[in-house]
Amino acid sequence: MAVIILATGSYFLLPLFNRAPAQDVSLPGIVTAIEAGQVETLTVRGDSLIATKFDGTRLGSRKESNISTVEALQILGASPEALRTLPIKVENPSFGFAGLFGLLLTVVPLLLVGYIMFRFARQMQGGGLFGGIGRSTPRVLSSAAAKDQKMNMSVVTFDDVAGADQAKLELQEVVEFLRESDKFVKLGARIPKGVLMAGVPGTGKTLMAKAVAGEAGVPFFSISGSEFVEMFVGVGASRVRDLFKRAREQAPAIVFVDEIDAVGRRRGIGLGGGNDEREQTLNQILVEMDGFGTDTNVIVIAATNRPDVLDPALLRPGRFDRKVILDRPDIDARAAILRVHTRGKPLGPYVGIADLAKLTPGFVGADLENLVNEAAILAARRNLSLIGQPEFQDAMERIVAGPERKGRIISQHEREVVAYHESGHAVVMHNLENSDPVHKVSIISRGMALGYTMPLPERDRYLRSKEAFEDELVGLLGGRAAEEIIFNRITTGAADDLERATELARSMITRYGFSEALGLRTFGQVQGNPYLGNLGETPNYGEEMSRRIDQEISQILDTAYQRAKNIIIQQKDRLENLAKTLLDIETVERPQFEALMA
Ligand code: ADP
Ligand code: MG
Ligand code: ZN
Repeated sequence: MAVIILATGSYFLLPLFNRAPAQDVSLPGIVTAIEAGQVETLTVRGDSLIATKFDGTRLGSRKESNISTVEALQILGASPEALRTLPIKVENPSFGFAGLFGLLLTVVPLLLVGYIMFRFARQMQGGGLFGGIGRSTPRVLSSAAAKDQKMNMSVVTFDDVAGADQAKLELQEVVEFLRESDKFVKLGARIPKGVLMAGVPGTGKTLMAKAVAGEAGVPFFSISGSEFVEMFVGVGASRVRDLFKRAREQAPAIVFVDEIDAVGRRRGIGLGGGNDEREQTLNQILVEMDGFGTDTNVIVIAATNRPDVLDPALLRPGRFDRKVILDRPDIDARAAILRVHTRGKPLGPYVGIADLAKLTPGFVGADLENLVNEAAILAARRNLSLIGQPEFQDAMERIVAGPERKGRIISQHEREVVAYHESGHAVVMHNLENSDPVHKVSIISRGMALGYTMPLPERDRYLRSKEAFEDELVGLLGGRAAEEIIFNRITTGAADDLERATELARSMITRYGFSEALGLRTFGQVQGNPYLGNLGETPNYGEEMSRRIDQEISQILDTAYQRAKNIIIQQKDRLENLAKTLLDIETVERPQFEALMA
């Protein structure tokens, strides 16, 4: 904006403060003055004529634009002699107000366009004007940098990564390579160049890579695969070149490529005929890694949650030949992670970290961090000075089932249906051999659900039996079974249960080979898509098989429903008791539940 104001300002000033104003006369008036020999100079500025007399006074007039000054004066009777001796000064037309406006009309849009392009160019590479498009913008993090900047930035170490002991053990080696490469080089060992870290999102891959840098005390250059997918072809490759150049200059160093699957997918399978940009970027990464001499002490750590889609060229010896897997944390690891994240936070006296770890199967590190944070927020909103067990409990349920919805108004009859439905789930689950114990039953609505029953595994499980699947189906159908038996009328309340049951029955047949009738073969090929993730399945079986699969699904569901109804009929008294208690106090926790079932 500053530029524009300056420009208008200076044009404005010129005509206004030029000289003393000229006295307006008609054109013949000027001719008369010329003939009288009074005019010293005649200044022509566009169509205006200004005659300056010897005595200093000035006469101004205008002529028509399609005629020259001399012609105009001649026509009006000026003699050739007078004109010959008259000094005529032709000046550039000054800007009148209209001229100024015209100028603004042309200049302002130009300036704006220039400004926008300038901003755009800067944004695209975060650097100077157009010059640095190919420059990578790695974020460097090192203990030295932290000290230089006198920031109180705690450098991540292995202590901050809880639980992942196996991964730490494997990465300890990398730390040693970075710290004392000489030791290895002397013995002729080839220092590994690349480590691939695989794990579902939130398991701490980024955190772990930073911890390796922190432990080794080396700079950490981080860039994400998705950033490479830029708009200009060739930019990704030059970014990679630049990034590695800087890392080599500061060796020993770590280059961290996050989300490498964004560029490192198997080549030649992209949608719409592959993506040149991706391939060039990937090729450049490989070229850089191959170019490391035996003494180049740069280790590339790449992270992905889709190791299965990576180009095999990435995994060859001398490239990402070390693979570190970050698992979902087990119960002990969850406790350790919770301890890391509750460190320094004011906890109430009855907070049991071990219990919380038990309550959170399937949570990854990022989820646990979120849990602690949600609990702290709840405690603050409740004006507490300590974060207590109830806050953790509530935060957990909020994360699993969505926020509580107290305001939802439902009729007494609907409440009863919900109470019996949830009691049905709980009673059926309680009476199944392979089902997890019921942790909580509630008819408080949360998220989309009007009520919920929460089973909780005693320990983490990695393998599940066919019987466990069958029992899970029975538990899922317990709600509908109770509705049918108690009210002799069924509602839409079971829609979600039915969908999950169908899905479960289908994967029992098509994925796990649990169906005796259809045998061991799997059905359908899961289709990955480089950009959208799972696209679904392509059937690799015929119509006849498809019909048999559908039949088998119905068969499995019918059997499970029959079992659920049988349990409800047998346990009708306990079902009634539980439902009445729920209508009374809304939520029943495990100890009370077990007392009711006894
Ligand atoms: P990823 O890169 O695997 O998606 P991140 O490293 O970004 O996961 O993890 C996200 C956050 O989760 C971390 O900043 C950290 O706070 C927390 N976290 C994950 N795993 C752990 C762990 N093992 N110990 C402590 N915190 C963890
Ligand atoms: Mg990450
Ligand atoms: Zn249900």
